[in-house]
Amino acid sequence: MYQEKEHVQCLIIGSGPAGYTAAIYAARADLKPVLYTGIVPGGQLTQTTDVENFPGYPEGIMGPAMMEDFRKQAERFGTQIRFGYATSVDFSQAPHKVVIDEIKTITADTVIIATGATAKWLGLPSEQKYNGFGVSACAVCDGFFFKNQEVAIVGAGDTAAEEATYLAKLCSKVHMLVRRDEFRASKAMQRRVLNTANIVIHYNTETQEIVGDGLNVTGIRVVNNKTQEEKVIDVSGFFVAIGHKPNTDIFKGWLDMDETGYLITKSDSTQTNIEGVFACGDAQDKIFRQAVTAAGTGCMAALEAERYLAAKEYETVI
Ligand code: NDP
Repeated sequence: MYQEKEHVQCLIIGSGPAGYTAAIYAARADLKPVLYTGIVPGGQLTQTTDVENFPGYPEGIMGPAMMEDFRKQAERFGTQIRFGYATSVDFSQAPHKVVIDEIKTITADTVIIATGATAKWLGLPSEQKYNGFGVSACAVCDGFFFKNQEVAIVGAGDTAAEEATYLAKLCSKVHMLVRRDEFRASKAMQRRVLNTANIVIHYNTETQEIVGDGLNVTGIRVVNNKTQEEKVIDVSGFFVAIGHKPNTDIFKGWLDMDETGYLITKSDSTQTNIEGVFACGDAQDKIFRQAVTAAGTGCMAALEAERYLAAKEYETVI
């Protein structure tokens, strides 16, 4: 089969805050980056509404508009932005090979992985219907919109525990929906939840439906999976915190990753176990997962790529 081929100095995979920030820095360093957007150009933020916690936007901004600003800034310095999806890689030797859309092979001196993560959802039609209108997968991003209101959060891991205590500071009451009779979260995080007066824990409880008035969330219908008792809890916000899946499947077997698939980088660095391959953003961050932290590691990845290429050039000169 005919395979189109191309060589680049710096290939960036992904178009969220990490990918575009890496592109801005790499382009300004004259690495002539080529960026492939993936299936969702702009990443997770294009699926949110208002973003009020990204510095530099004092009035807040809509997620899609912010990502458009990121794209324009990356393009302004000469990044080639292309729609395409990385389907496989071969990191066995330099230059590294990345196949796009199964037909085009790019060889690259440096690869910056910024493929992000995908929030897990319950999969209810009503959850999709009210996504952005009361349903959210990020308490830190959207909790503020529910100040002094009653909300619910589903999940029982560290993320859910952390987000529930975050929400409890803003909201009048937080209903925490735990599907088993115990938490998965660490003991320390559990203690924090249990010691917060305005968090009500509903054990053995599953969400059946997010109830709304057609515009916004007004409640949730839940069922106790032991007693089968059903009830509606009135809330205006519903937070899903049941885990994320990093988009790193194509790197399996090449790059070190943890059991969930988060890429492992060297400490204080975005360097992976393969020389010249750097990882940034949510693909390597399971703790913070913020646009601003993703942008920060995107910057780090580009700076490290630049230093790596400069060191290689120096080696060939002497
Ligand atoms: P986890 O996979 O650890 O937990 C997911 C939680 O969601 C579990 O309690 C699970 O229930 C529940 N869940 C999954 N599917 C459903 C469903 N369909 N309906 C209801 N509940 C569901 O994900 P986290 O995002 O919490 O954490 C991921 C990793 O990141 C962990 O290693 C965690 O320790 C780490 N982390 C660390 C933090 C820190 O150190 N500050 C902060 C945040 C995360 P069940 O228990 O029944 O399976």
